[in-house]
Amino acid sequence: MQLYRLVYYSEAADNLTIQDVKSISAKASIKNESLLVSGGLLYCEGKFLQILEGSIRPVNKLFETILRDPRHKNVNLIEFSRVKKREFEGWEMSLVFFPTSRDFYPEYIKYSGGDSFDPMSLDGDVCVAFLRGLLERQKR
Ligand code: FAD
Repeated sequence: MQLYRLVYYSEAADNLTIQDVKSISAKASIKNESLLVSGGLLYCEGKFLQILEGSIRPVNKLFETILRDPRHKNVNLIEFSRVKKREFEGWEMSLVFFPTSRDFYPEYIKYSGGDSFDPMSLDGDVCVAFLRGLLERQKR
């Protein structure tokens, strides 16, 4: 199976609550598992950073659906590329939630070199390392 990785950034719709985000993530885990799609979703300060990895068709179709979802806006594709292996094996769609970016400042500085949370300034590899770092911390 040829693997692809898609990374995007978006902004939450104005009325979105953390409960809505948890519900999106819980349903996404079930659907992604059935599509053999893995990845991670960060939600912080009304911003989403999501990574999806899997075969080209399911990843594309899922992204089409996500693009149309009114629960977020200003979707910006950061990367869509072929990759050799999954970085989120076993994570169908893990949500990392931080109320403010100060809560992940050490990881952000480590991977991005920047000091204010701006996903658009990151490339795909940095997003992957950053999100994996946060998921590992959450697991501990
Ligand atoms: P349906 O549930 O029938 O959805 C039909 C359409 O209605 C969808 O296109 C969606 O835009 C919209 N919709 C569904 N529920 C609501 C609601 N409560 N309020 C407003 N509109 C709604 N889904 C995944 O399966 N995997 C993911 O990794 C994933 N990541 C997401 C990340 C973000 C930031 C957001 C906002 C959504 C994400 N979703 C994800 C949800 C995705 O957009 C679809 O809602 C979901 O895949 C179900 O779509 P569906 O067409 O199969 O079914």
